[in-house]
Amino acid sequence: MSAPRKVHIKSYGCQMNVYDSDRMADLLTQDGYGETATAADADVVILNTCHIRDKAVEKVYSELGRIRAVKHAAAREGRRLAVVVAGCVAQAEGEEIARRAGVVDVIIGPQSYHRLPSLLARAEREGLQVDTEFPLESKFDALARGAQQAVRRRGISAFVTVQEGCDKFCTFCVVPYTRGAEMSRPVAAILAEVKELAAAGVREVTLIGQNVSAYRGAGPDGAAFTLGRLLHAVAAITGLSRLRYTTSHPGDLDAALIAAHRDLPALMPFVHLPVQSGSDRVLAAMNRRYTNATYRRAIERLLSARSDLAFSSDFIVGFPGETEADFQESVRLVDAIGYAGAFSFKYSARPGTPAAALPDQIPEAVKRDRLLRLQAAIDRNQAAFNAKCLGARLPVLLEKPGRHAGQLVGRSPYMQPVHVMADGSMIGETAMVTVTGLSANSLEGTLAPETSHPGRMGEPETCPG
Ligand code: SAM
Ligand code: SF4
Repeated sequence: MSAPRKVHIKSYGCQMNVYDSDRMADLLTQDGYGETATAADADVVILNTCHIRDKAVEKVYSELGRIRAVKHAAAREGRRLAVVVAGCVAQAEGEEIARRAGVVDVIIGPQSYHRLPSLLARAEREGLQVDTEFPLESKFDALARGAQQAVRRRGISAFVTVQEGCDKFCTFCVVPYTRGAEMSRPVAAILAEVKELAAAGVREVTLIGQNVSAYRGAGPDGAAFTLGRLLHAVAAITGLSRLRYTTSHPGDLDAALIAAHRDLPALMPFVHLPVQSGSDRVLAAMNRRYTNATYRRAIERLLSARSDLAFSSDFIVGFPGETEADFQESVRLVDAIGYAGAFSFKYSARPGTPAAALPDQIPEAVKRDRLLRLQAAIDRNQAAFNAKCLGARLPVLLEKPGRHAGQLVGRSPYMQPVHVMADGSMIGETAMVTVTGLSANSLEGTLAPETSHPGRMGEPETCPG
């Protein structure tokens, strides 16, 4: 019997790519492959790429340079190494990747992953294969789901893609071009997937989509479910203790989604709500379809449903035409909301997007300076939020062993990593932890006397305001 073939997958970018990478691994496992952590002993290397910023694209090309050497070394040993570029760079650049990097055997867009095994076979016979179609059949109907063993190995927290693509066309963003139009998976398929995950030991599920708050999936009776209704259905699945969703658009928050935060104890009190800028002028130029005031009103509506909610966000600095005064509006917004954390990016002109053609592109040095100043404001707010948690008793979902013997790492409801001395058998449990210390961006704690067991948690305690 010949040794099983091995696949090595490297994922870049968002959680959706992590989900897609797992599905490709599951598909190839069904085809007889095992997974390997290194490219050197792989038969297939997949780079699942991200096109959101220029840096992300350049990272892929430099990785392809390294893989060229690995492919040549394998050839010297008489082995064939197939190289696959998947994801949004594949979708956006197509054959150009093969022209620029040479070593590639398969180029496959995010909507065609279910065709990977046949494309690999064809590439072996015929050479380079490119599939960047938006096929009529849904990849979700054909993609394999992980065997229980693989699910357990991936941990007790899992992502489930419920929605893909975007119709919003923010002027800076490539997603509507690389991922295509909005598409929502049917409710029954999502519930079946989550039930399997829960049966395999998963305790926390994050429903993901480029624009998850635009979810409109067909329900069992044919009527469309909104995200709020879907969250209710998923929360009823036995074995899950925590539920999250990301990423939502501030313009899409409907009453049902807001009420879900009031009505579902399993829905964690932490909302990622990207704002991009605090300036109305910049928001309009970005085509975000809300203002600073309406964004803040959305936050207030969420808080009135559940007062212990905390927020994170995404910001872009240096969008074309952004003045120092516009930028200061972003800094003021960070301080006004008091985010528990946020991501911030320098604007990156993406070919084919409307903003790339705008006049008044901002010099790199100005972008760099604004990024540093915004990050300082974000860090200050994050540190203040963490400091408020000191002394609180928080429910912590224990995820994996920590760096020290006898230590476990878990997550608070607010996604903070929490280190605690606890027995390994408690992985998967939600433990009440008293926060005793802070280090960088994580919390230290001790097990509080009263600790729950897997299953549904009551109302979490909050970091006192
Ligand atoms: N759908 C989400 C939303 O509406 O906020 C965002 C999804 S996008 C994959 C993640 C983040 O990347 C965005 O929120 C934005 O901050 C950032 N981003 C997207 N395009 C960018 C660009 N051209 N330059 C810099 N950052 C960008
Ligand atoms: Fe991109 Fe998000 Fe805007 Fe859609 S809503 S275009 S994914 S930034």
